[in-house]
Amino acid sequence: MDSNNSAPKHYKIICLGCHSDVSGKGYGVRCGCGNALSRTVYQDTRLEIAAEESMWRFSAWLPTTYKLQTHGRSVTYKSEGFARELGLKELFISFNGYWPQRNAFLETCSFKELESPPTVQRAVESKVKTLVVSSVGNTARAFAHTVSTTSTELKLVLVGLESAVDKLWLPEPPSPNIKLVLLRRGNDYSDAISLGNRLTTIPGLVTEGGAMNVARRDGMGTVMLEAAITIGRVPDHYFQAIGSGTGGIAAWEASLRLKRDGRFVEGHLPKLHLSQNLPFVPMVSAWNAHRRTIEPSIDMPDATKSIKKLYADVLSNRNPAYAIRGGVFDALTETGGQMYTVSNNEARSAARLFEDLEGIDIVPAAAVAAASLIQAVADGCINYSDVVLLNVTGGGVQKVKEDKACYQIKPAINVTRPDGDLAELQEVLI
Ligand SMILES: *Cc1c(COP(=O)(O)O)cnc(C)c1O
Ligand SMILES: [Zn+2]
Repeated sequence: MDSNNSAPKHYKIICLGCHSDVSGKGYGVRCGCGNALSRTVYQDTRLEIAAEESMWRFSAWLPTTYKLQTHGRSVTYKSEGFARELGLKELFISFNGYWPQRNAFLETCSFKELESPPTVQRAVESKVKTLVVSSVGNTARAFAHTVSTTSTELKLVLVGLESAVDKLWLPEPPSPNIKLVLLRRGNDYSDAISLGNRLTTIPGLVTEGGAMNVARRDGMGTVMLEAAITIGRVPDHYFQAIGSGTGGIAAWEASLRLKRDGRFVEGHLPKLHLSQNLPFVPMVSAWNAHRRTIEPSIDMPDATKSIKKLYADVLSNRNPAYAIRGGVFDALTETGGQMYTVSNNEARSAARLFEDLEGIDIVPAAAVAAASLIQAVADGCINYSDVVLLNVTGGGVQKVKEDKACYQIKPAINVTRPDGDLAELQEVLI
C-alpha cells in the first residue's frame, strides 16, 4: 500500500527483529524478517497531555496524524472497599467501561474501545477502505461503536458467531457501513478468525491485525499512561486477564516509554501479573514450563472442549502473541512477571465481591484478573504498601443497559463453515 503521502510525522515504527524502519509499509507494518512485532517510537519522549477528556489526550503517543472524535477513556481511581478487604494500602483500579459517576464512558463496556479509535483512524490514514474484524463480542462492539459514532468513512466487516449473537449490541443504531457475517452454531472463535483471514483475499478487505497492530497496542497502552498520571508514577504491580496478550504487551510497552520520559519510573518496571481462565490456559502452561513456544498438545489439549467451559470466553485465543519477539514471553521476562490460573468459581466469587465492595458490575475477564489479585495477596506476593494496578478490562454492562437503548447488529449473511465458497460472500460484502 502506498503511504508516502501519509508519512507519519511524530512517530516511527521499528521492527523489533531487525530494527528497520517499517513506517512506510502501510497499515500492516509487517517487516517480513521473521517472527517479531513492530513497535512505535514517538518523537516526544516526554509525555505531553492534550486538553481533552477522551483518550486522545494521549495523541502524542498514538500512531495517527489526526484525531477521531470519540468519547471515553481509561479511568484510574483509588480503591477503598476492595483494597480494605485485601489489606492493600495502595490499590488502584483502572476502570475500562461505563460508569458515569467515575467519568467512565466506554459505552461498549470494555477496553477494546481503547483499541478501536486509533485503529480505525490509522486504517483510514493508511488508505484502507474496509477493515475485517473477527470477534466473539467486545472487539466487534468496540469497532462497530467507533464506526457508528464518528464521521469516519471506514467500512467494517465483522465476523461473529451465531452462538454469541446476543453480545453484538450497540448503544446506538449500527452504521450502514457495518456488514456482519455470522457463522452458524458449531463454530468457535478460531473459526471466526480463519474466515476473517480468508475474507482478506477479497480485494479491498484488510484484516485489523490483532496484537501485531501498533494502533491497537498503543491504544490499550493508554491504560498505563492514565494510571501513571493519576498516581504520579507507574505501579509496582499490574494485574490483567489475557487472551491474545495484547493488553499485557501494551502495558509493558507504555511503561518502557514512561521510563524514557523519566518522571514516572524509579527503578523497576511494573511487574506483570497475567491470568487465564481454567481450563483453557495455554500461556500459563507454557510460561510455567519456562517455554517460549506454546505446544498445543501439552498447553491446550482438548482446546475446543475447554473453551466451551470458560466463564470468560473472551480469553479463548488459540494463537496469542506469546512467543513472538516483543510478545508476552518477553514482557513477562523483562518485568519479572508471573502468570495465574483462575477457575470459574474463583472468578464468579471475585466478581460478586468486587461488585459489593466497589459498586459496579464487572465482566468475566475482569473478574479473572480480580481473582488473580486475591491469589497473589493470599500467596504473600504483594507487600501492604506496594502500588498495585488492577485492570478492570470491562464493566458497567448492567449500568449501560439501564441508561441507554440497545440495538442489535443484524447479520448481512449467515454462513455454515469458515472454509466455504467466498463468491457469495464477496457479492454481499462489496
Ligand atoms: C479482550 C479482552 C481481554 C483480553 O485482552 P488481551 O490483552 O487482548 O489478551 C480481557 N478482558 C476483556 C474484557 C476483553 O475484552
Ligand atoms: Zn524486521
